[in-house]
Amino acid sequence: MHEMSIAMNIFRIVREKLKKMYGKYYPVKKVAVNIGKMSTVVPAALEFCFEMAGKDTIFEGAELEIVEIPLKIHCEDCKEDMILDEPFFFCRKCDSFNLKILSGKEMNVDTFEIDETADPITEEAMAWK
Ligand SMILES: [Zn+2]
Repeated sequence: MHEMSIAMNIFRIVREKLKKMYGKYYPVKKVAVNIGKMSTVVPAALEFCFEMAGKDTIFEGAELEIVEIPLKIHCEDCKEDMILDEPFFFCRKCDSFNLKILSGKEMNVDTFEIDETADPITEEAMAWK
């Protein structure tokens, strides 16, 4: 499943950030991700995978917030920027197909919250988490 590898990727990114920021790992309470409308991610499937794969790790019980980034394009002909509600790629103003995608393809971790009052988990213990 596509969403499972994305969930694993989210875990990896947050873990790396925790390591850089604190040198240790705290339980994660919440992760916010930006998912572009153009990406083929199914939010419900991603939530499911996040919860499943997060069991017995620092991500157990963490909330996943999915922020959908709209599909925004720039028309190279009439120079208009616009948001497309459907992925039909033509300019709504001049019907041109000469478009540049400005946003809507991204997939990244925006912010996350940790429980700093909890005991941190050491690098050794993390090896199998
Ligand atoms: Zn146009």
